[in-house]
Amino acid sequence: MTPQGRALRIAMVAAEAFPFAKAGGLGDVVGALPKALERQGARVMVLIPDYGFIDRRDHHIQPYAPAPVIRAPLGGHTVQTEIHAAWLPHSRVQVFLLRGGGYFDRDGIYDDPATRKGYPDEMQRFIFFMRGALQLLSELRAPLDVLHCHDAQTGLVPALLRRQYWEDPTLSGVRTLFTIHNAAYQGIYPRDALRWAGIDDGFFYPGSPFEYWGKVNFMKVGIEYADMISTVSPTYAAEIQSDPEYGAGLEGVLRRRAGDLFGIVNGADYEVWNPETDPLIPANYSQDDLSGKAICRRELLQRLGLPAAEGPVIGVVSRLVAQKGLDLIEQAVSQIAELGVLVLLGEGDLNYQQFFKQIALKYPQRVATRIGFDNSLAHSIEAGCDMFLMPSKYEPCGLNQLYSLRYGTIPIVRATGGLADTVADYDPVSNTGTGFRFYAYNPGEMMYAIRRAVELYRDRPRWQAMMRRAMSQNWSWDASARAYMQLYARICESR
Ligand code: ADP
Repeated sequence: MTPQGRALRIAMVAAEAFPFAKAGGLGDVVGALPKALERQGARVMVLIPDYGFIDRRDHHIQPYAPAPVIRAPLGGHTVQTEIHAAWLPHSRVQVFLLRGGGYFDRDGIYDDPATRKGYPDEMQRFIFFMRGALQLLSELRAPLDVLHCHDAQTGLVPALLRRQYWEDPTLSGVRTLFTIHNAAYQGIYPRDALRWAGIDDGFFYPGSPFEYWGKVNFMKVGIEYADMISTVSPTYAAEIQSDPEYGAGLEGVLRRRAGDLFGIVNGADYEVWNPETDPLIPANYSQDDLSGKAICRRELLQRLGLPAAEGPVIGVVSRLVAQKGLDLIEQAVSQIAELGVLVLLGEGDLNYQQFFKQIALKYPQRVATRIGFDNSLAHSIEAGCDMFLMPSKYEPCGLNQLYSLRYGTIPIVRATGGLADTVADYDPVSNTGTGFRFYAYNPGEMMYAIRRAVELYRDRPRWQAMMRRAMSQNWSWDASARAYMQLYARICESR
């Protein structure tokens, strides 16, 4: 509620929203948080790019009749922009999809699947999206309280709002929240970005929000201009201010805004990730009846061509990038294969893809690798594995450990960022904890955590008690949505 006692009106701008477009956790968040906010009484809409791969029929996407076409300013011209609309499933959250100039009629969100690299016109693509989104919001004339911008692809929005729309009848008083989902992806481009965005080049000077080592850094602009900033876990909020390993050069900027920076842990969408109802897994199960999990395990091994396993089945579902701690797995893979079966699904860096494909050939009975993005297999891995490994170098929040907890698939994590905030270490004395944690970033520490897990796995009653403890945790979006509601209210009060 606003101080005036009416429903808060929020618009989210992001490059991803599940189920329309998802490359990682950002998509999950923008697909789920608006629904949870709606349950708290907010009115929410979402704006995303209209990528060429989005299935129009599956998602019931229609031209937005009241404003099917707008013109988005870009680089001194305007671009004809088609507006489509749909609904987030099971909600009254309207999703607006923007396309034009040929910027989004493609198969990839960030990377071109053909080259595995960002599109060469990445900068223009997202500037176009930001300008189009603001133009649409202005033309919709729907009153708004907070414009919630997510990650670098929307980093210029708070600045554009203040510099371009300060007299706009709809947008002039709107407040902004900028959420950092991953501080390592900052959107750093040549100075020319300002011309494309329609921001006066005079704002580009050392020390300005628009200047970053001779370039323009979209994330920096978002941090500097937003009314408030959030990131996706309290531990990560502290890490990005204190350590260049985490803040990736933005520590100083973030520290300056420490009073306006908040950490709110993500939730899991239990409408999508719930072993009791999940239609993508071979058998449903619950804390009270775990029998379905054994079926999921058997079928997963079969699906991947692995024999029935004695030891634990350990899952990994991940973007294959250095952040995710894959070099630790690389260094320890033979030890892991001795203790259990490793099942890995991911795509990303070619070196990792190559390595994990080779290792599956070397240990055909103990390691299975699937390269690609496969949502249904991701669900089957969550359900069919005994343990889930996330040895991340850093992890802003992480969602797979939350899904793992719900699926009784015990997470083994490096205690960083959101992993530290959501997984409690097993304590054999009090018989408490929901997973296994390690701290120092090296394969020996990771293996020690895996060995502790395997030891407990052999003690069936204790292991099953741990599974039930994990499954009974509540990481639904509701608590996080309440925290966002408080933050929005605070932003409005600071008007
Ligand atoms: P990040 O956003 O850094 O990739 P998160 O743990 O926050 O990491 O979110 C990752 C999300 O993407 C999860 O929902 C996970 O299941 C999904 N995911 C990652 N890689 C794949 C893949 N190859 N196939 C299917 N889903 C994937």
